Amino acid sequence: MRKITVVLASRNKGKVAELQRLLNEELGDVVELKSLDDVGLTEEIEETGATFEENAMIKAAVAAKSGYPGLADDSGLVVPALHMEPGIYSARYAGAHGDDAANNALLLKNLAGVSDRKAAFICSLVMVFPDQSAPIRAVGAVEGEILLSERGENGFGYDPLFWYDPMGKTLAEMSADEKNAISHRGNAVRKFARKFARRMGLVEDDD
Ligand code: IMP
Repeated sequence: MRKITVVLASRNKGKVAELQRLLNEELGDVVELKSLDDVGLTEEIEETGATFEENAMIKAAVAAKSGYPGLADDSGLVVPALHMEPGIYSARYAGAHGDDAANNALLLKNLAGVSDRKAAFICSLVMVFPDQSAPIRAVGAVEGEILLSERGENGFGYDPLFWYDPMGKTLAEMSADEKNAISHRGNAVRKFARKFARRMGLVEDDD
């Protein structure tokens, strides 16, 4: 069967491989995912959006300049007691981009003495088409609570602080497959895959 080429708005090979695996689980071997580098798109993308979805849309539109459908995700942690922070600033909450230890320390500091420790991870996935047809949007979430200290060694980012009660562990205490089954990213990919399959005529339209 002919594969559908899709360009993921990322230069991270690990991220491309991970998303390829998730899409294959949902769709079979239908999508061939390429990175921005694979298609020679070198421009720096500025994430100037005010929401996860706006940022995903900006990134997906750049990937679609390749002439293939462009796919992008944007995700982060929202904490209602902190007015939905860190939100779109999740990666650089404490200043430096991707400093997980500093981000986690700041989250604990800002929640010191706060009893409402509810939190959610959100993932927005957007596909933009080169012919300007309507984008496909999918949002996934997972709800939990922020612990008082870190637990677990797996995952990344805020995972060691994010308690998922139905499984009685933090995201950092889960295997990759366990996390994927319940995570914001896993949920967003599963929703996206259903919409994508309908749009591409891979399944009967059940709307
Ligand atoms: P990205 O949009 O997927 O690059 O995520 C942005 C930031 O949100 C990351 O740098 C993390 O700080 C946080 N984040 C997103 N997803 C996760 C997750 O699954 N676990 C922990 N932190 C996450």
